[in-house]
Amino acid sequence: MSIHEECGVFGVYSSYAQDVAALAYYGLYALQHRGQESCGIVVNDDGVFASHKGLGLVSEVFTEQEMKKFPYGEIAVGHVRYGTTGGNSLSNCQPIQVNHLKGKLAVAHNGNLSNALMLRRELELSGAIFHSTSDTETIAYVITRERITAPSIQEAVSRAMDRLDGAYSLVLMSAAKLIAVRDPHGFRPLCYGQMEDGTYIVASETCALNAVGAKFERDILPGEILTIDSSGVFSDRRHCGTVAKRLCIFEHIYFSRPDSVIEGVSVHDARMKAGAILASAHPADADIVIGVPDSGLDAAQGYSRASGIPYGIGLIKNKYIGRTFISPGQDRRVDQVKIKLNPVESEIRGKRVVLIDDSIVRGTTSARIVKLIRDAGAKEIHMRISAPPFLYPCYYGTDIDSPEHLIASHHSVEKIAQMIGVDSLGYLPIENLKELCGSDGYCSACFSGCYPTAVPTDTRKDQFEEKLSKRKQW
Ligand code: SF4
Repeated sequence: MSIHEECGVFGVYSSYAQDVAALAYYGLYALQHRGQESCGIVVNDDGVFASHKGLGLVSEVFTEQEMKKFPYGEIAVGHVRYGTTGGNSLSNCQPIQVNHLKGKLAVAHNGNLSNALMLRRELELSGAIFHSTSDTETIAYVITRERITAPSIQEAVSRAMDRLDGAYSLVLMSAAKLIAVRDPHGFRPLCYGQMEDGTYIVASETCALNAVGAKFERDILPGEILTIDSSGVFSDRRHCGTVAKRLCIFEHIYFSRPDSVIEGVSVHDARMKAGAILASAHPADADIVIGVPDSGLDAAQGYSRASGIPYGIGLIKNKYIGRTFISPGQDRRVDQVKIKLNPVESEIRGKRVVLIDDSIVRGTTSARIVKLIRDAGAKEIHMRISAPPFLYPCYYGTDIDSPEHLIASHHSVEKIAQMIGVDSLGYLPIENLKELCGSDGYCSACFSGCYPTAVPTDTRKDQFEEKLSKRKQW
């Protein structure tokens, strides 16, 4: 509930000039759940790039007037952002654009490089001047440096991949090509499809393909470079299979939309399964199962079906909340959870409730939700979490924090239950994670501490800002 999503990327390649900005708009709209801090679209009109970016939701940044300013074009890339490296400033909005010796490049990135600081230091020492504090600009510079000697942009991307560590699902746009790239571990999802008129769409999730009427073709493979240009679609698989696949298991548990399908597994089905596993691992004598919207709802249905306890709508989420402005001073009086969630008292009063959520991070949000349910008259609350306890930070594009902020890393399950005010608490057993995605190729480092890459030495989201502010003192 209090973990932020990461980012969403979207790309369009058309063989004729059309309103590719509108397609990107609808695609980003479908990916809004992956990031609400900022968004951007860059359109390629016969090699000339036109862009608009801003802080806020897709519907706020891309007004009718702004959309009218976009020319028709053949290629477009778009991005919604929740920043995991770099602060929330306009300069960090994506797609990032760079002009280089051999042309132009626009880059949209979902993920987080684990060697970003080292690469940036190296680039700065050789004269690179950065305009943002996001690791995406580092990726853009590594690619454009390689492009100086590489015979093509896709060859430059392939060489850059030898240098990039960590999580990156990228959509790149050059003057004539749309390129989709997924890191060899495949941490973040990326797929492509085609519209009836032949227009190609690349997106973080299948729900964005559906939004624009594109038929799902397939997932981009971990390590694959997929290039789309006037000669068709070309797949470069040199980096595929070089390391073990490690798709982020939290995509199925929380990040992705339930109507998306990732690597053949429906996110909704995975969450239903998590609920069923919880019902057998942590049964409860109860009258009703309710989920915390949105990502707890599917797991709550799964728990209900497996246990036979009726499913109910016990909490309503205000879907139109956007980025609510709470003025300083008001923040202590207004409970943020109450603005977002409201209990349905008639469903809850006098009942023994099984409450399903996807995670407990610090415990403060969970405690507030539990209080809402208690105040609505619940007799007992049995909380079930559709993920194992968070014990370790994530370095791959989410803001799962350092252990001192993770309640489970220094408290027992019984103690957490007491702290958040529930009668019992049960987590998804870590050994059952495989059942959610149907393979061993997943990352579960935030639960197990087994990281698929070297762990970065500086892991703060604002690592580059801090470096810059120190520099002012030199
Ligand atoms: Fe996903 Fe956790 Fe791995 Fe991060 S550490 S990529 S959140 S499974």
